[in-house]
Parts: sequence; structure tokens; C-alpha cells
Amino acid sequence: MLASFAGIFMRDRYQTVIIGGGVVGCSIAYNLARLGGRDIVLLEKGAICSGDTGKSCAIVRTHYSNPLTCRMASIGRDILADFPGQVGAASGFVRCGYLIFADAARLGDFERNIRLQRETGAEVELIDCRQALEIHPRLNPERIAKAAFEPLSGYADPHQTTMGYADAARRLGVELRQGVSVRRLTESLSDRVDGVETDEARIFADRVVVAAGVWTNAITATVGVHYPFDITNHKVVHFQHGAVPSSGRFPVVRDLPGICYNRPQSGGMLFGNSDRGDPISDPEVIDESLPRDGAGRFLRNFENCFVELAGARITSHWAGRYDVSPDSNPIIGGIPGKEGLIAVCGLSGGGFKLAPCIGRMVAEEIVFGESRILPAEPYRPMRFAEGDAFTKAYPGTGAMA
Ligand SMILES: Cc1cc2nc3c(=O)[nH]c(=O)nc-3n(C[C@H](O)[C@H](O)[C@H](O)COP(=O)(O)OP(=O)(O)OC[C@H]3O[C@@H](n4cnc5c(N)ncnc54)[C@H](O)[C@@H]3O)c2cc1C
Repeated sequence: MLASFAGIFMRDRYQTVIIGGGVVGCSIAYNLARLGGRDIVLLEKGAICSGDTGKSCAIVRTHYSNPLTCRMASIGRDILADFPGQVGAASGFVRCGYLIFADAARLGDFERNIRLQRETGAEVELIDCRQALEIHPRLNPERIAKAAFEPLSGYADPHQTTMGYADAARRLGVELRQGVSVRRLTESLSDRVDGVETDEARIFADRVVVAAGVWTNAITATVGVHYPFDITNHKVVHFQHGAVPSSGRFPVVRDLPGICYNRPQSGGMLFGNSDRGDPISDPEVIDESLPRDGAGRFLRNFENCFVELAGARITSHWAGRYDVSPDSNPIIGGIPGKEGLIAVCGLSGGGFKLAPCIGRMVAEEIVFGESRILPAEPYRPMRFAEGDAFTKAYPGTGAMA
């Protein structure tokens, strides 16, 4: 039987339904089709990349506080850097490097964490203040006790990347349906998730992959499942200043004491706060405004971080949402007793650079019964209830894992 969507017919049975056309859903769709998965449909209620991927600063770094997520980020970075070769599309990756610095208060945690990263094979150097200033001459030396530099990191373009995955998935036979909203998951008598009900039709599937970002729980709640993450509001501003190069010359910077980050962007830089963000209960209600005190905080952080950039002005700003898990690491997998359901959520403001690896992991779980590129089990949703969450190198300093 066929259901009509704006004149295009869609079947009522697939092997895999993927909900969400952000970078995660599109990466999963592409990777699953590449590994031989067939009968795949991706349902997106808006347009591809219309969710939080479209708001992303798309910074690509490997600085995490556990070996597995550090590895997940390096795999993601390598795929993004070689996107034309691997996926056949542009990702807009700019290899400008990533510089993170700590003050004396966090020095012990910082040095321990860099050692851990180097032991896992990460390309990162611990450097002193003088070396940091050689890489970025405008940094404020008073803030820097020690720094670390990742020469292979940088940033990419979230729209190009997501469209690249979507187009490649389509070429491999995945059906992409935009403007189709999933109302609820459906279950067989045995508590198995057996499909979805959209605003137009019922679709049966062997499995449903929920890659709906901050909307995940609105969907999984329809079968009584709640994934443990908070939704928070995050603002990003664009600073313009004549002294800032248009792109590429400065690295991405993470200011640990200031709990903020910045990256080059046309005519200036993007600047964001890396705290957990302000909690919001409804993902549709997002605060885009930049109140006077909010702008003041960005300006203060900017002036603390840099010297000789006085007079910088905010030329634009926007807001997006984070899905923050209790340990700030991704949540990947199903829930015992709900066969047929897989979700990816809790990306905690860092999901862009992790999405290439997560897409592979989920696809391998489906095709081979296990993720080969990286173990998926440590990211299972039940780890919190089981007392097996990841630990963070910098507790209390924001969403960064
Ligand atoms: C301001 C900001 C800055 C960020 N900066 C960085 C960064 O520098 N580096 C980094 O690695 N990460 C960053 N992130 C995080 C990263 O962008 C996200 O983790 C990632 O893009 C999430 O992708 P996603 O596919 O899970 O979610 P989304 O992109 O939100 O995609 C989910 C999709 O599901 C769709 N959907 C929802 N409900 C339904 C339904 N019922 N039916 C059908 N479709 C539905 C939505 O329309 C949406 O398109 C940032 C995020 C924000 C907000």
C-alpha cells in the first residue's frame, strides 16, 4: 500500500525508519546505505539541516576527557577533513588548529587531561604561554598558565556537511522525506517498536532510529521512554574587528577560565559561551534575544581573552539548543524491553564533529550486530542508572565532556 506525500508516494513498510534530518540522522542514513542497508527512509519534519545542526559553530576538536570520546572526535575530524574523498562532497573543513588554555586554578586537571589524550594517540601538544602567543599573538598572556594545541583541528560548515551526507545517502537509495512529521512511535503487542505514525500515514519498520536532537523525548515518550538529557538555550555572537583576519589565520580558541570559545568567521569571529546554558522546557520556545547584560558578558569574555582587539562590535547573533546529558557524553542505543528502537541524543553541544563516527557506529550496530569502529556499549542510555557514567576532566565548567 502507498501513502501520498505532496504527490510523491511512500511505501508503508521499510526496514529502517530514521527520524531527523540533522547531521546525525543524515550521517546514519549514509553510513547504513554504504554498508549495504536497504529499504531506508529518513523523515524530517522541516527541511534537511533545519534543526540545531543549522545553528552549529561546527568546531572540530579532539579535546575530551575520556579516551573513547577523544577517539570518536578524531575519527570525526579525519572524515570531515577528507569528506570529498570519503563521502564525495564538501564539508567546508578549515584546518586552522585548536588552541585551548588554562589558568593556574585548572592546571592540574588540564595537564592530566592532555596526558590522557596523548596516551590515546591524539595529536596534541602541551605548550607554554610564549608558544601560545606565537600561534595566536592577540591572546591575553595574563590568562594563560599552560595551553595545548591541536594542529589538525579546525572547523567545518554544518550545512555543506549535512547536505553532503543527505545527497550521498540519496544516491545510495535512501528515501529522504522532508516536511513529514512523526507524531508517535508504534508498538506491537510484544512491546517491540514496529514503526511510526506520521501526520499523514502509518509506516511499519523493522527498526526506528530516532535522531531528532532535542525533540527525541517528545517522540520516544509516545512509547513511554525518556532519555536522560536537559534542553538548554545557547547564544552565539559574531564579533567584527578590523584586526581580525577574515578566516583561517587564527586558530579556534577555547578559554577554559572564561568558559567560552571562539573561531574565525568572515570578517571577524564567532564567540560562544561553553557553559551548560539556560534550561528550556519546550524546544520550540527559544530565546534569540541578546539582552544588554548578555551582550555585556560576551564583551567581557572577549576583552578578557584578547589584547589589542578593543572596539570589537557585535554584528549579528543567534541562538540554538543543546541536548545535555548528565555526563556530557553522547547517548547511543536502545532501552531494554523496547526492541526495535535506537536513539542518538545527549550530544551536549558537541555533536557536529562526533556525527561522522556516530553514524558509522549506529550503522555497524544494525548491519553487523556490533559497532566495530568504536564500542557503542559505554554510550548506552542505561549507564546513568547503572552508575557507569563517564567522568569529566573539568566538572562544573559547562557542557564539555
Ligand atoms: C549554537 C550551537 C553551537 C554549536 N557548536 C558546535 C560546535 O562548535 N561543534 C560541535 O561539534 N557541535 C556544536 N554544536 C552541537 C551540534 O550542532 C549538535 O550536537 C548537532 O548538530 C545535533 O545534530 P542532530 O542531528 O542530533 O540534531 P538536529 O540538527 O537538531 O536534527 C534533528 C532533526 O529532527 C527533526 N525532527 C524533530 N522532531 C521530528 C519529528 N517529530 N518528525 C520528523 N522530524 C523531526 C528536526 O526538525 C531536526 O531537523 C552546537 C550546537 C548549537 C546549538
